[in-house]
Amino acid sequence: MDQRGKAYIDQLEREHHLAFDEYVYLLKNRSDELAEYAAKKAVAVRQHFYGNAVYTRGLIEFTNICKNNCLYCGIRRGNATVERYRLSEDEILQSTEEGYQLGFRTFVLQGGEDPYYTDDRICSLVRKIREQHRDVAITLSIGEKERESYQAFFDAGANRYLLRHETANEDLYRKLHPEEMSWKHRMDCLRTLKEIGYQVGAGFMVEPPYQKVEDLAMELQFIEDFKPDMCGIGPYIVHHETPFRGEKSGTVEMTCFLLSLIRLIYPEILLPATTALGTMHPRGRELGIESGANVVMPNLTPVGVRKQYELYENKICTGEESAQCRGCLDQRMKSIGYELVIDRGDRFGWNRR
Ligand code: SAH
Repeated sequence: MDQRGKAYIDQLEREHHLAFDEYVYLLKNRSDELAEYAAKKAVAVRQHFYGNAVYTRGLIEFTNICKNNCLYCGIRRGNATVERYRLSEDEILQSTEEGYQLGFRTFVLQGGEDPYYTDDRICSLVRKIREQHRDVAITLSIGEKERESYQAFFDAGANRYLLRHETANEDLYRKLHPEEMSWKHRMDCLRTLKEIGYQVGAGFMVEPPYQKVEDLAMELQFIEDFKPDMCGIGPYIVHHETPFRGEKSGTVEMTCFLLSLIRLIYPEILLPATTALGTMHPRGRELGIESGANVVMPNLTPVGVRKQYELYENKICTGEESAQCRGCLDQRMKSIGYELVIDRGDRFGWNRR
C-alpha cells in the first residue's frame, strides 16, 4: 500500500485540509487500494452524520431551451438537432404533486437558461409549489442571474439553489465555455446566493477535455474554502452534437475517489450520487453511495419529454414513470444496506429559517 497516500488520507480525515501538492499527489497516485481506503473512511464519516439514510430529491427538468452555448453540453444553443420543449406551469405543478404523493419532500427545478421563464414566472411558480405543500424544500437550478432575481426567488419561497461552479480554474473555464461567458460572474453568483441565505450547491464535472489533476486539486481546495452545502460531481460524458464530439468521457473510478475526498474535507456536506455516474456504470449510483455520497435525485420530469433533456449521451432513466424511478432507486439502496427517506434532506447542522 502507498504509505504516503495513506498518510495524506489520514491527515485529511483529521484536519479536513491538505496542501495543493498533497492533493495532486493523491490524485496522481490513485489506486484501487488507496481509493478503497479513502472510501471506508468517507463512509464512516457519513454514517456519523446521516446513518444509513439516503436523501432523495425529485428532479424536474422543466425546459431544455437554453441561451448559453457551453461547449460540453448537449442542450447548448448551437445544437440544432435537439427537439426543444418547455413545460407549462401546470405541468410542473402536476409533477410536484405526483412527487409529493410518492414521498418526495424536496424538488429541484432545473432547466436551460430559458428567457420565457422570467423572474415573475419563476416567482409565481415557486409561490404555487409553496401553496401546494408547506413542508417541502424548493430548489432552483436555472443558472446565472443578478442579485435582485435571486433575492426575489428567495422571497417567493425558494430554499436552495444549485449552480455548479464547473471549475475553480478560470483558464479551464475559458476552454469549456464560449467567450461571452464569465467565470467571475458565476463565482460571484455563488457568493451572492450564500449571502441571501440559500442552501447552496456547487459542483464540477470530472475529466472533461483539458482538465488536469492540478485542476481537480483546485476543485478540492475550493470546496475547503467555500464550503458549499452540497457539491454535485459526475463524470463528464461526451455528446456527439457538441464541439467536444470525439473526446473521452470521465471515469467512474476518479469520480468515486473524489466523492470520498470531498466527504473527508467537509463531513456534513450533501453529496449526490449523480445520474451521470449511473450512466457510466450499471451500479454507478450504488458505487457513489459506497464512496461517501448520501443523496440521489430521481427524475420526476414527465416521460414524454425526458429524452430531450439530453445533456450527454445514453442518459439513464429516460423511459420509466416517476414511480418506477423511485421504486428502482429504493431497491438499489436497500440492496447495499441503505434507505431512501421521506425528508427534506437539509444539510446536517443547517439552521432552518
Ligand atoms: N442551466 C443550469 C443547469 C445546467 S445542467 C446551470 O447553468 O446551472 C446541470 C449540469 O450538468 C451542469 O452544471 C454541468 O456540470 C452538467 N453537464 C452538462 N453537460 C454535461 C456533460 N456532457 N456531461 C456531464 N455533465 C454535464
